[in-house]
Amino acid sequence: MRTPVIAGNWKMHKTAAEALSFVDEVKRTTLPADVEAVLCAPYLALPALAEATQGTDIGIGAQNVHWEEQGAYTGEVSVPMLKAAGVQYVIIGHSERRAYFAETDETVNKKTRAALDGGLTPIVCVGETLAEREADKTKEVVQTQVKAACAGLSSAEMKRTIIAYEPVWAIGTGKASTAADAEEVCAFIRKTVADLYDQQVANEVRIQYGGSVKPENIRSFMAEPNIDGALVGGAALKADSFIQLVQAAS
Ligand code: PEP
Repeated sequence: MRTPVIAGNWKMHKTAAEALSFVDEVKRTTLPADVEAVLCAPYLALPALAEATQGTDIGIGAQNVHWEEQGAYTGEVSVPMLKAAGVQYVIIGHSERRAYFAETDETVNKKTRAALDGGLTPIVCVGETLAEREADKTKEVVQTQVKAACAGLSSAEMKRTIIAYEPVWAIGTGKASTAADAEEVCAFIRKTVADLYDQQVANEVRIQYGGSVKPENIRSFMAEPNIDGALVGGAALKADSFIQLVQAAS
């Protein structure tokens, strides 16, 4: 009932030319129609990627956005600019942005609001650090982040929002969460959404797992009832591996 979504987060990798050669390779395969495949690329690769994927089912996402439409915000990019470039998704609140670029729950909420207002699908990242997990604070941290990110969203807006549960200790470390642990937190996130809205909204919201997902382990996550796909960094940098991830989610 929920369409799984596999989103590749290229982080600060790939020029426009490199992005195009990746897409050329992906386009040689028929991807399963029952999975949403998304590539989240650096800003400079987005216009070329959007053009190259026109007429395909591959979605294009940015990795950040500013909440204002325009203004004196040197170095920033707005939702209308992303829309004009053909972008449909945007990652918001990735743990790297929270850790290195002063992203806060408040800015995550503003960006989510702006993305939805402008017609983009936000992929909102939440997740605990290792210290928080060891202090048994995972649920508390994740609940606070989800509540803050979604503050003020209508039910219809909440349904359009994708939540990515990404334990910080699992990102880029090769140490993925177990599927059972990821499922426990994703189920808790769904319950949090049900408490904030209602069960129907919670049933429709897509919740991804992210953190060292690769072709070898994705099936274990996809087998869990509350995990609706994955946000993938390293393993999404090669076209053949990305294709395998999308196929495994079907
Ligand atoms: C990410 O960048 O969101 C991520 C989960 O990275 P990786 O798959 O490399 O752990």
